[in-house]
Amino acid sequence: MSSDPDVIIIGSGPNGLVAGCRLAQSGMRVLILEANPRRPGGALGSEEATLPGFTHDVGAAFFPFGKTSPAFQDLDLENHGLVWKHAELESCHPAPDGTVACIARDLDVTARHFGCREDGDVFRDLATWHGRVEHHLLRALLLPFPAVRPMLKLGLFNAAKLATMLASSGGGLARRLFESEAARRVLPGLALHVDVGPEDRFGAGLGYMLGLTATTGGYPVPRGGAQTLANTLVRIVESHGGKLRLGARVNRVIVKDGRACGVRLDDGSEIRAAKAVFANTSAPALLLDLVDQQHVPARVVRKMKRFPHGWGTFKADWALSAPVPWSCDEARRSAVVHAGDSLDDLSQFTAEVRGGNLPHNPYLVIGQQSLLDPTRAPAGEQTLWAYSRVPPRIDGGWSRTKERFLDSVEKRIEGLAPGFRALIKARRAVAPPDLEEMDANLVGGDLGGGSNAWHRQFVWRPVFPYFNYRMPVRGLYLCSSYAHPGAGVHGMCGHNAATIALRDLS
Ligand SMILES: Cc1cc2nc3c(=O)[nH]c(=O)nc-3n(C[C@H](O)[C@H](O)[C@H](O)COP(=O)(O)OP(=O)(O)OC[C@H]3O[C@@H](n4cnc5c(N)ncnc54)[C@H](O)[C@@H]3O)c2cc1C
Repeated sequence: MSSDPDVIIIGSGPNGLVAGCRLAQSGMRVLILEANPRRPGGALGSEEATLPGFTHDVGAAFFPFGKTSPAFQDLDLENHGLVWKHAELESCHPAPDGTVACIARDLDVTARHFGCREDGDVFRDLATWHGRVEHHLLRALLLPFPAVRPMLKLGLFNAAKLATMLASSGGGLARRLFESEAARRVLPGLALHVDVGPEDRFGAGLGYMLGLTATTGGYPVPRGGAQTLANTLVRIVESHGGKLRLGARVNRVIVKDGRACGVRLDDGSEIRAAKAVFANTSAPALLLDLVDQQHVPARVVRKMKRFPHGWGTFKADWALSAPVPWSCDEARRSAVVHAGDSLDDLSQFTAEVRGGNLPHNPYLVIGQQSLLDPTRAPAGEQTLWAYSRVPPRIDGGWSRTKERFLDSVEKRIEGLAPGFRALIKARRAVAPPDLEEMDANLVGGDLGGGSNAWHRQFVWRPVFPYFNYRMPVRGLYLCSSYAHPGAGVHGMCGHNAATIALRDLS
């Protein structure tokens, strides 16, 4: 019997690893080739990046789909040693004027903290309805498109209710549902995790999903760091005979007779794949660089050359001597804190980033992992993680600007937590080029696998008609977040690509 693997997977991000788990469980001999020489996981990982004893997540940190994604449910991660840790509150949205809105898994707690009493009641009703339909809704949105059966199970009334909400912009939906500014800033603020602004057409969906899944799965973190989740997936692959090689960058997919039959590595060696090649890479890297362009339709090459990436990401890590002294008590008990004062503030931020300018008062997603998981820092001390969205490139380059921009990030936190800066023992600024150097998929710091605007989803992701994981070359599948359903650690791009390939191979 040949010693070639059946399937080669290029890249060990969460989607590549989930694809590996599923294929290996189905009896395929799987080899995962990862460019990073130190660790698997891509944008899912952790490092001691500031001081000894402080574990910082390099990218993804909070996992709204950790317990609810069909891919993770199938793999039964908790049975393989993964432990999820929760905070009392999932997301807190304070402002310097003292107003606040929070989301908790306990809907009564949420209702008491959602701007004002009326807004709390509206959100509780919405979350109660969401809880009833989430099982079918997640399957309708996450399984290969079009997921007809889950859509039918969702039912006409629920589908119509959802469509009416999601046809709005995030700001439009927030203004329609809520009266207080505190409640109105929540869902549009969450949509800025990717590149969807408050007034973007059909932009309500992302904020809705992130806000409402916070009430079901919550925003848990894996004990020990995000790397623990990646390592758990590797263990599952290996337990089914699959293999992972670190420090193995692929620079060519070998095509013979119109079929992907192997890869070439940077060191010149070639590895054959008996059945298929999976790419956990960016779509443009796959179709412009890894596959010889003679095998790719000219129209697709043109589209890939103009591929619309999402905004850049600026990330920061701190080692702190004590918890952040938030003025707002709820923020001290919340997994994630969002800095974004009002719909106007979020719109101005969006306009600045889209205009290619550094935001003057950066919107922030701030993560307090060590509050939930004390293993992340020495006793009594804390880690802090935050990111903002920025232009991928700026005049003069990022290396000259990143420490200055980090100062403005700290200024915004200090405004919500006077005394914060005095607690900093060490800090690290991670600009868009640093993210791309760590993981080639994060092009210009794009954390979303390309833009997440509505017209980049479903049949347009990454390019029509190649939305169902099959690429223009036979036996070649795209399994990264550049495929449906896109950004986030849910593993569904890998899960779906494996489902389609197994169907093809059988
Ligand atoms: C700062 C930041 C914060 C985030 N926060 C969250 C969060 O809190 N929650 C959440 O759910 N999501 C979050 N995300 C998004 C999430 O991390 C991504 O959507 C997810 O990691 C995408 O997974 P993937 O498997 O498609 O690709 P990636 O995680 O990008 O992994 C791709 C892998 O492929 C490897 N690779 C690429 N090209 C090659 C090649 N030619 N040869 C060999 N290997 C190659 C890369 O080295 C990398 O390891 C965040 C991302 C960032 C950057």
